[in-house]
Amino acid sequence: MGSVNWEYWILPVYFKIKKMTLITLSALLTLRFFFLIGDPRVFHLDMDQGLPLYSQMTGLIDVTYLITNLVLIPVNGLFDLIFLMIPAFHTAYFPALPASELTRYPGVFDWLALFSIGLVWLISPAMDQAYALSRNTLWKMFVEMSFAGKKHAIYQDTLKKRAKDLMKLNVEYRNLSKETSQLKDTVITDELTQIYNRRFFHQKMEELFLRAKQNKTPLSVIMMDIDYFKNINDKYGHLMGDTILRDIAMAIQKTTPSNAFLTRFGGEEFAMILPGHKIEKITAVTRTVQKGVASLTFEGAPELEVTISQGVAHLDFADELANALDEFNDFVRFADDELYRAKLAGRNTICLNHLKAAKDQVNT
Ligand code: GH3
Ligand code: MG
Ligand code: MG
Repeated sequence: MGSVNWEYWILPVYFKIKKMTLITLSALLTLRFFFLIGDPRVFHLDMDQGLPLYSQMTGLIDVTYLITNLVLIPVNGLFDLIFLMIPAFHTAYFPALPASELTRYPGVFDWLALFSIGLVWLISPAMDQAYALSRNTLWKMFVEMSFAGKKHAIYQDTLKKRAKDLMKLNVEYRNLSKETSQLKDTVITDELTQIYNRRFFHQKMEELFLRAKQNKTPLSVIMMDIDYFKNINDKYGHLMGDTILRDIAMAIQKTTPSNAFLTRFGGEEFAMILPGHKIEKITAVTRTVQKGVASLTFEGAPELEVTISQGVAHLDFADELANALDEFNDFVRFADDELYRAKLAGRNTICLNHLKAAKDQVNT
């Protein structure tokens, strides 16, 4: 019960005190009035007895007036102020009267006090309603204030919780996007060699073929196939074959220009996409690849010498003839045909399909 709201009981108590004070004040004023209009002889009082009684009564009225003033004014305001001015004036005025006047006449303020009491009781139902109204309004205000405080606390709690949830969500989101990008990498990466896979080759090829056509720029593809790899497998075993394949992929990756993409096309075949290079540069790249592979030495197979065959397709879309080609797959087929020719030509060979120079073989 520690959390009982004081506003639920403080107002009713306040109005009770107020009403009781009013009643007391009215009773005292009325009594004094009747004391004044009555002949002391009727009450069997002489002046010696009457005056002390009268001043005691006035003293009581003054105290009650003070309490009433303190208790009533804050809530009822103007009406109570007017009503209470009358006894106030009376108290101030009365002691100035000569003692002989006291028992003979009720003063004008006594009449006024009586009148105002009558008025108060006459309009008391209306006043009660006004009290109730102000009480209800105040009560509502208090309740709303306390509710607003509670609501505010609840909102703050909710906000704090939301902020925490958001932070959690942010962390989750970051982890998820990290995982997503890792997954994306996995989808386009070859597991054995860690270079791009065939799926990526097709995506990139399609994209770069379109871009080269739009921008009228050159595009090249080099298809590569390791020579006699089956023999390597047979001699050193499949596991060693895997290691050799990985080493070869790494060696070719090192010679790949920064804007080019090396992919594992399948088995021991690689495909390099090179956008924006002239034929001279492409030829240079094929030679670097050829030399790089030939110079490789393998741990566990020191005497092994590996060679690679390459078929190149090169198109410059600034050329009208090149624009006749609509399908990037046809373009890839050119490179494949050249690779086949390189194999036929005895391997460790580079063959080039250059649209302008027709079929041009570059042998070392
Ligand atoms: P060539 O290309 O010069 O005609 O001869 P080749 O012996 O390389 O012939 P081919 O390209 O037809 O054979 C490829 C061999 O590569 C067959 C397969 O056993 C081997 N190979 C393909 N993928 C892998 C791989 O992931 N690991 C290993 N160890 N061997 C592979
Ligand atoms: Mg091969
Ligand atoms: Mg092959």
